[in-house]
Amino acid sequence: MSEKQHDIQLFCATYNVDECLEEIRECLECGWTGMGFKTVAFENKWKEYTGLNNAYYLNSATAGLNMALDILKAEEGWEDGDEVITTPLTFVSTNHCIPLAGLSAVFADIDDTNCLDPKSVAERITDKTKAIIYVGMGGNAGHYEDIVKICEDNNIKLILDASHMAGTRINGVIPGKEADVVIYSYQAVKNLPTADSGMLCFKKDEYDAIARKKGWLGISKDTYARTVNAGNYKWKYDVEYVGQKYHGNSIMASIALVQLKYLDRDNAYRKQMCSWYREHFNKYPELIKLITIPENCDSSCHLFQILVENRDEMMLALNAAGIFPGVHYTENTMYRMYSYAHGSCPRAEYVSDHVISLPLHLRLTKEDIDYVAEQVIKIALKK
Ligand SMILES: *Cc1c(COP(=O)(O)O)cnc(C)c1O
Repeated sequence: MSEKQHDIQLFCATYNVDECLEEIRECLECGWTGMGFKTVAFENKWKEYTGLNNAYYLNSATAGLNMALDILKAEEGWEDGDEVITTPLTFVSTNHCIPLAGLSAVFADIDDTNCLDPKSVAERITDKTKAIIYVGMGGNAGHYEDIVKICEDNNIKLILDASHMAGTRINGVIPGKEADVVIYSYQAVKNLPTADSGMLCFKKDEYDAIARKKGWLGISKDTYARTVNAGNYKWKYDVEYVGQKYHGNSIMASIALVQLKYLDRDNAYRKQMCSWYREHFNKYPELIKLITIPENCDSSCHLFQILVENRDEMMLALNAAGIFPGVHYTENTMYRMYSYAHGSCPRAEYVSDHVISLPLHLRLTKEDIDYVAEQVIKIALKK
């Protein structure tokens, strides 16, 4: 058995430091760190990478989710209290955007992919259902294609919270063109880490244009355009909406531009680490349950999750062995905010009590993965 060398954390971002600093230096030298310049460059690179029509760079995915619901509600004429079907197994930011927009969050259950179960979703559709928010948990696309079909058949909008999905492909293609809006996170622990930023990708150009106003206090033109456009009255602008300050900046975009170059390479190593974990755990299918990833899904491998009987004990025992895993997530109906739906999603409740996300980041070696896996197995066998 391998010896413990050092503490092993769940996440630790790895940056191409010199290249990031070089991009940031350009901003500092020319005196432009705000919206425009690098943010536009990154939006263009992201559209190229994903094949999506639009990409508006923001200060977080949370901002993107909030704007997605706000704009869809206003433009599609949804009423207060109209329903959005969503997953309880997610970061609360996925769900807060619903009540924030005056809409009602309806929770559907998950399946063995840890993503929304299409059957449960179909059961929860009412004549008030306007949208579904789908989370590709840990990078797994789950049964996304069935959800797309449900949305088409029922004339329901599809919002893809792709915060974990930077680099995920279905049948070799980055998903999202079929969704009404896709939101990515480049928060510090995600697969494409900056420090904090995100992307909002509307299918409709019209909604992208509205987002670009609402994301900067409702102002009609961005500062950069006004500065570089020669001519009179460049200081003038109109305010068309009550907006938020949600847009991204060129320092974050500088980091993103560099990190995107290495995203597929980095995800390939994540995939390698996941297969090392699987080799260990496949020998103990009763003790350590793995999450199903459909065959046509090439996951970004944001998370490596297992389900174990004695989760809380195992977390403590792993901590004692210098390993610091995580839990994604406490299912959201456990929170007071969403407790009205408690008991409606039994599979999510089970997963919430049994799931562990094992350490998965680019600084881990095969020896680290072997050590973590051996400790997990040792603790599970003691039961
Ligand atoms: C991280 C995360 C978010 C929020 O991303 P931020 O960029 O931190 O706002 C939303 N949804 C999911 C599923 C996430 O994991």
